[in-house]
Amino acid sequence: MAEKPKILYVEDNLMNRMLVKRLLEAHGYTVLEAEDGLSGIKKAQEELPDLILMDINIPGMDGFEATTKLKSIEGLKDTPIVALTARVMDGDREMALTAGCDGYIPKPIDVDTLPGLIKDFLAGRREKVAVAEERVYLREYSQKLVDRLQEKIEELTKANEELRYTDEMKSRFISIAAHELRTPLTVIQGYLSMLTQAEDEAMGRWNDNMREVIQGIAKGVERLNTIVEDMLDVTRIESGTLKLHLGPVSLKDVITAAVRRLKTFAEERQQEIVVADLSGIPPVRGDADRLLQVFVNLIGNSIKYTPDGGRISLSVRVIEAGEVLAPHVRSTGQGEFTEVIVEDTGVGIAEEDQERIFKRFYEVKDPSLHSTSKTSFMGGGLGLGLPTARGIVEAHGGWLWVESEGYDEEKCPGSRFHVLLPVATKATASSSK
Ligand code: ADP
Repeated sequence: MAEKPKILYVEDNLMNRMLVKRLLEAHGYTVLEAEDGLSGIKKAQEELPDLILMDINIPGMDGFEATTKLKSIEGLKDTPIVALTARVMDGDREMALTAGCDGYIPKPIDVDTLPGLIKDFLAGRREKVAVAEERVYLREYSQKLVDRLQEKIEELTKANEELRYTDEMKSRFISIAAHELRTPLTVIQGYLSMLTQAEDEAMGRWNDNMREVIQGIAKGVERLNTIVEDMLDVTRIESGTLKLHLGPVSLKDVITAAVRRLKTFAEERQQEIVVADLSGIPPVRGDADRLLQVFVNLIGNSIKYTPDGGRISLSVRVIEAGEVLAPHVRSTGQGEFTEVIVEDTGVGIAEEDQERIFKRFYEVKDPSLHSTSKTSFMGGGLGLGLPTARGIVEAHGGWLWVESEGYDEEKCPGSRFHVLLPVATKATASSSK
């Protein structure tokens, strides 16, 4: 038995869809449905129906526009499209045919004649407008399209402005929240140092329980401090107020300091941190504390997203001027760049996430996996580390990006973070930004 002809019905009204579906199915057709122009186009491309019934007054892209689009798609050019509309005004039929429809059926649907009409269109019936008439309608149709385009651009511009405003409010909120949190934190820190001092004065005669409690509070306060600082850094980067104290910085010193800071965490996870020979690498022009922050973040992430027993390697190479650099690096037209590569044997990052992870608050994993530990396996944080690190590197006139074969917790393809920094020259060695 031959396959049943497939009819796609694009219509926003559920009752109409049900009626036509029931009617046509009873006549041996398969009926597919779409509620609006865009989903109709998508479904038509996927299903390649034998005929499309197109309601004209549908939300978003209207039936005329959807038809014009459908007729431009390879594989659908010859599919008959029949307009269905309740808006029977003078010229509607001609307009529908000019837009690309092959026929026009006024609503309400006549259940007695519809199946026969569909059969005719499937057999090759095509309605046409006279050429001279078509020219007039084409002009009217293109005018209508331009009006719609203008309306859409105005809507989008307005929506964009609103989004920008909401984004600004959110940034302002982060900044205010961070500043507000800082005040009680300073107070707690003050009392904490009084307690530590009191212990010193008591010559360490406090019992172990008490010491443990104080250490616990100190640890919590330190963590909170880092979060508040991260929030402040993000707002500084966004508003372009991040202050850099630029000077010649030894990458060897910065990387050594970063590794020293995180070594015990890696050891707890039986991970090895391998640093290549960094002697002979020229100093970069940078802010040593901020660069330390970048490498602590990158190595810390590598520890977090690499299973126990993995390896984290750091290497540096000098790039000659003229070599192809990352797309966002401002060309200085002189001198060289240095590239630091932080590579791990961790879970890796899916291609579609490789840019997104540099966006604020973006986390690949479920936020319920949030962990208070900065280094436990897969323990997600606030999602501010990488945007901040990129912001710092960018403020140095460099760029930070990642390469990875993809995300796989079993195979662990690893990630390679590249940090591109300008080398210090005599002319740029000192000066602050
Ligand atoms: P978080 O505080 O969540 O670690 P980051 O901005 O530092 O925030 O990182 C954002 C996301 O990027 C992380 O949630 C993680 O999914 C992914 N990521 C960062 N570094 C690595 C890495 N070395 N390997 C795999 N995934 C990583």
